Amino acid sequence: MSDQRSTHFGFQTVDEADKAARVAGVFHSVAGRYDLMNDLMSAGLHRAWKAFTVAQAAVRPGMRVLDVAGGTGDLARAFARRVGPTGEVWLTDINASMLSVGRDRMVDDGLLQPAVLCDAEKLPFPDAYFDRVSVAFGLRNMTHKDLALSEMTRVLRPGGRLYVLEFSKVWQPLAPLYDLYSFQVLPRLGARVAGDEQSYRYLAESIRMHPDQETLKSMMQEAGLVRVRYYNLTAGVVALHEGWKP
Ligand code: SAM
Repeated sequence: MSDQRSTHFGFQTVDEADKAARVAGVFHSVAGRYDLMNDLMSAGLHRAWKAFTVAQAAVRPGMRVLDVAGGTGDLARAFARRVGPTGEVWLTDINASMLSVGRDRMVDDGLLQPAVLCDAEKLPFPDAYFDRVSVAFGLRNMTHKDLALSEMTRVLRPGGRLYVLEFSKVWQPLAPLYDLYSFQVLPRLGARVAGDEQSYRYLAESIRMHPDQETLKSMMQEAGLVRVRYYNLTAGVVALHEGWKP
């Protein structure tokens, strides 16, 4: 368990107790425009990153799947189509605005699966319940990433797999261009399309503060996962980490 009193909110150092409330503010603010902004900011690439995650997860009919920080539900919907009527996909998020968009989209697609408001650091599920756990673009927003990774590992059954899709460390030669895009273009796009420059500045800053590929791999091993490996996507803009519960 972490014993730090302060943490990062983007480039700012804040009290641990304040981080969750600030992150909540960001996602309450962006929920209505989240999907549109995702498409614009990534030029649609987030769909390919998620499709790769779904392919790697190899979810089969009858499986139990947990999507942590699932937000507007892209992964949960894809998994729900694969588990069929005998499986379960739990869409979860700490933020009611994001979760309600995700839950509505599941229902609109005719996918009747549970949606639960909960904190990844304190998951309300029994040990060894799930075959797969996923978290896409959620981990970097969490105050105690180590706790969240332990919780996700706890609820996996032996042989189950965790997938962490997250922004990561970009291939160094591309870093100047990526910085220009992140700190000049992104906040302006946020201001114009979502009327919210600050939240998109936080996005760029939080990406820079997130552990790189090797560090996250070690954190997953420390949480008790084995056979941990990662795939760099789009030159490391994003990485998909996979780990097995022994
Ligand atoms: N997974 C979705 C996707 O890939 O489009 C949503 C990602 S969105 C960038 C990050 C999500 O993490 C938000 O919906 C936010 O509410 C959620 N989140 C942040 N901290 C969390 C926590 N401690 N527990 C659960 N969800 C959390």
